[in-house]
Amino acid sequence: MVIVQTIEALEEAKNALTGSIGFVPTMGALHKGHLALIQQAKQENDHLIVSIFVNPTQFLEGEDLDAYPRKEEADIKICKLAGVDILFMPTIDVMYEEDELCIGAPAVRGYILEGEKRPGHFDGMLQVVMKLLNLSGATNAYFGKKDAQQLALITQMVKNYFMDVNIIPCNIVRDDNGLALSSRNVYLEGEEKTRALCISRSLKRATNMIIAGERNTEVIKKEMLSVLEDADQVEYIAIVDREFNAVDNVEIGNTIILVAAWVGKPRLIDNLWI
Ligand code: AMP
Repeated sequence: MVIVQTIEALEEAKNALTGSIGFVPTMGALHKGHLALIQQAKQENDHLIVSIFVNPTQFLEGEDLDAYPRKEEADIKICKLAGVDILFMPTIDVMYEEDELCIGAPAVRGYILEGEKRPGHFDGMLQVVMKLLNLSGATNAYFGKKDAQQLALITQMVKNYFMDVNIIPCNIVRDDNGLALSSRNVYLEGEEKTRALCISRSLKRATNMIIAGERNTEVIKKEMLSVLEDADQVEYIAIVDREFNAVDNVEIGNTIILVAAWVGKPRLIDNLWI
C-alpha cells in the first residue's frame, strides 16, 4: 500500500494501476461499516483506493470539526490489512484554494431532513465528493446507505454532471445490539450507549408494524416516537420514497424510514430501507 498526500503523488501512484478502480471516500476513524465498503470495493475491482479526509466545508459553525475523532495510525493498519493499493490522505491546502467555485445541493431535496437541520452541509459534502471522485478516477465508488440522503444526492450529482463513475450503495453495518456503526458513537458515554439503542429499536418497531400490515406513515411515526423516548431530543422521523418525497403510505420496495436524534453528546442518524 502506498500512502499519498498530494495530487502529484496520487497521480503517480495511479499510473501504476491498470484495470478497474474501486474507491471508498471516508473521514477516517474507520470501523466495521467502513471496512464493509472497503471489502466490497476490493472484491469488485482490480484496484482499491481509499481516502481519509475530514472535510471542513461540510461541518457547520459550532459542529464537531475540531473534535471529530482522528485515528490515523489505526486507520493505516486497517487499510493495509484490507489490501488497499493507495491510501489518499490529503491536507486541507491540497484540497481547497481561496475563493473556490461551489457545487450546490438541489433546492428541494438538498434542504429537507439533514439539509434542513444542517443547512450548507450537503453543499460542502458534494463539493468534496466531486473533487475526490475526479481525483480517484474511480470506476466504482462505494457509499453507505447509513447516510441515505447523502447517497441520494451523490447519485443525483453524478447524473446531473454526467460523471463517468458508478455509485454503489452498501448496506448499513450494525453492532450486535442493533446500533448503526458510526465514528461519532465514541462520543456516547455510560448509560447513553444503552439509550442510543432506542433509535434502531424504533426502526425495528416500524418494520414489525409493516410486516403486520400497517402502511399508514403517520401511525408508524407516532409509534416510533414513543420508542424514541430514551433519546434526549428527536430531530426528525421521516418516511419517504427512494426519491426522498414524503409519503402517506409505505410502499414495499420504495420506502426509506429515517431518524435523527440526540443522545448525550452525539447527534445520531439511522434509517431502514423497506
Ligand atoms: P464517513 O467516514 O462517516 O464519512 O463515512 C464514509 C462512508 O462510510 C460513507 O459512505 C458512509 O455512509 C459509510 N458508512 C459509515 N457508517 C456506516 C455503516 N454503519 N454502515 C455502512 N456504511 C457506513
